[in-house]
Amino acid sequence: MLVVVCGHCGYVLYEGNELKTLNEILREYAGVCPNCKKSLKPVTQSVKILEEEG
Ligand SMILES: [Zn+2]
Repeated sequence: MLVVVCGHCGYVLYEGNELKTLNEILREYAGVCPNCKKSLKPVTQSVKILEEEG
């Protein structure tokens, strides 16, 4: 499972099995975290990608 969270506050931006690019996910949020309102960029400092089994 793919989990993408905001690197600022830990808000879960995407969770699922579908392979998406960070750009696709961030575009759905217009590049802004809906929780902390900070800008999201497809770099590891602003988002975290977690890959979990199952
Ligand atoms: Zn956030």
